Amino acid sequence: MAKEDFYKLLGVDRNASDAEIKKAYRKMAMKFHPDRNTDNPEQAEAKFKEIKEAYEVLSDAKKRSAYDQFGHAGVDASMGGGRGGFGAENFSDVFSDVFGDIFGNSGRQRSSVQRGSDLRYNLELTLEEAVAGTEAKIRVPVLVTCGECGGSGAKKGSSPVTCTTCHGHGQVRMQQGFFSVQQTCPTCRGTGKQIKDPCGVCYGQGRVQDTKTLSVKVPAGVDTDDRIRLSGEGEAGENGGPSGDLYVQIRVKEHNIFTRDGANLYCEVPISFSTACLGGELQVPTLDGKVVLKIPPETQTGKLFRLRGKGVKPVRGSAVGDLLCKVQIETPVNLTKDQKALIEKLGESLTGGGKHHSPQEHSWMDGVKFFFDKLKG
Ligand SMILES: [Zn+2]
Ligand SMILES: [Zn+2]
Repeated sequence: MAKEDFYKLLGVDRNASDAEIKKAYRKMAMKFHPDRNTDNPEQAEAKFKEIKEAYEVLSDAKKRSAYDQFGHAGVDASMGGGRGGFGAENFSDVFSDVFGDIFGNSGRQRSSVQRGSDLRYNLELTLEEAVAGTEAKIRVPVLVTCGECGGSGAKKGSSPVTCTTCHGHGQVRMQQGFFSVQQTCPTCRGTGKQIKDPCGVCYGQGRVQDTKTLSVKVPAGVDTDDRIRLSGEGEAGENGGPSGDLYVQIRVKEHNIFTRDGANLYCEVPISFSTACLGGELQVPTLDGKVVLKIPPETQTGKLFRLRGKGVKPVRGSAVGDLLCKVQIETPVNLTKDQKALIEKLGESLTGGGKHHSPQEHSWMDGVKFFFDKLKG
């Protein structure tokens, strides 16, 4: 049994807006919801499913346009690849559209030449790759022009025939009451041509699903959310239309040492208590090797050291950033008895000497005192 027209099912006309389609769908879905049709639930359910399917297609711009062009076959194909499933009697309806513009027919209102869709590919890079630039090989699923028919949709060696409904005029006269109305031919949709013999490889769509491997040049300095456009590498156009573009969307993986913020890199560097007190040198990693970082005496935890020019050169213009190293002073662990004794002695010396050894402590204590005084009123 032939499927009912999706627009008819929802009771909207072919130019209906998305909002109108949604409204119609709600109304119809309510009407045929099996719960509301307890006297004939099977029939209602079948109808409900049809309505739902119609809505799923018409509410999706891409599917709707496929449906408009190819009828049910267009959306069946785009939904699951089951292109072999439709009957021969649909071919004229489905495929006449394909030839509308190739044969220069002027009776059509809408061009069937369509630009292929843009595609997006998510590419994950390491920080090193993003900073230095790289060349990535990616495999993308695409609709490409059918090699068998060269994108025409007609079987090799065959050509379209004159439409039997309108005899090539593209228009038909319909009697409506007192009026005779000229309409676009429903069989060929105004092209005046029919394809009797569609290409067996692409089933007349002119395009087939394929995977292609592309080599993407990733420039140095890219970051998450940057996009690289590969012009013309998207889906093939329909009926000779231009191909869409492929957008390679960059995502940079987390790094175990560095975090990036624009041109700057950050890292945390643990330093020993004694180095923090007395100063010293330590080796810190950068993206291009180790460098020596001088730690001055009496360094406090959390202090940021800036290594100029050891950051990233962003892909767009600006200068190379810096590497900011945040030092974290480590409290010694696994102390021996002797070490504990030494620290105890050190502690006594630091508190007993009358000198100010703790830069934060006084202001902090003042703050605490002020806080309690205020509580007391
Ligand atoms: Zn083909
Ligand atoms: Zn016709």
